[in-house]
Amino acid sequence: MLSRPFYFGKIEYGGISSEGKHIPLISKNLFDKVQNHLKVDYSTNKPRKYEFAFTGFIKCSECGGSITAEKHTKYYKKTDRRAEYVYYRCTKKLGVCSQPYLDEEKTDHEIRELVKTVSLNRVWEGDFKKLFAEDENNLYLKVESKLLELTSSLQAVEKKLDKLLESFLDEVVDEESYQLKKNQLLDIKLNLKSKIEKTKSEGGTWLEPLSEFINVSATADKITRAKNKSNDLSVIDKKVG
Ligand SMILES: [Zn+2]
Repeated sequence: MLSRPFYFGKIEYGGISSEGKHIPLISKNLFDKVQNHLKVDYSTNKPRKYEFAFTGFIKCSECGGSITAEKHTKYYKKTDRRAEYVYYRCTKKLGVCSQPYLDEEKTDHEIRELVKTVSLNRVWEGDFKKLFAEDENNLYLKVESKLLELTSSLQAVEKKLDKLLESFLDEVVDEESYQLKKNQLLDIKLNLKSKIEKTKSEGGTWLEPLSEFINVSATADKITRAKNKSNDLSVIDKKVG
């Protein structure tokens, strides 16, 4: 999240960068400062704990308990060789559960099968991206025309307010009627103003998550097919999840 240019107003999609129409959350300057901090490795003095690829985000399908992992070393006397094995198992803290241990290879396989069920294949990826571009375009057109409509209504109300004040100053309307009408018009004016702000800021809130969804789902398909390490698979699993 800290390294996504979206937050300072830049949209990157399909290898093309463009200026977003949304209000940036942070400045480019702050973004650059954060990037420099991210490059520094602050962990050099701390001893690193062994990290299991699949712990922390998978749960047992039988009882819903968290999955923990253990590393075991096996010694082979004949060949005088030591091999390390990682096993995953249900913590069984939520009650009775019959699930046995699962070695890393089998865990990896099960997860790949699960990720496949929510992945987007290459052919569909292109179709989704095309639809996304159409939606994006339609949305901008819609937002623009809505803003135009709201702005002209706002101008009309402001004109009425001016006219009302003139009528009051020319003593065409009495003070009571003036106040009453003025309050009504002010309410309409404020309402229109907040609608304009809302349209501006909410116009494309779903675009970024949708784009992310398409990219992750497409990557999921590639990752489940590739002969990658469990660590890569676990990164994508967290995203897909
Ligand atoms: Zn369980």
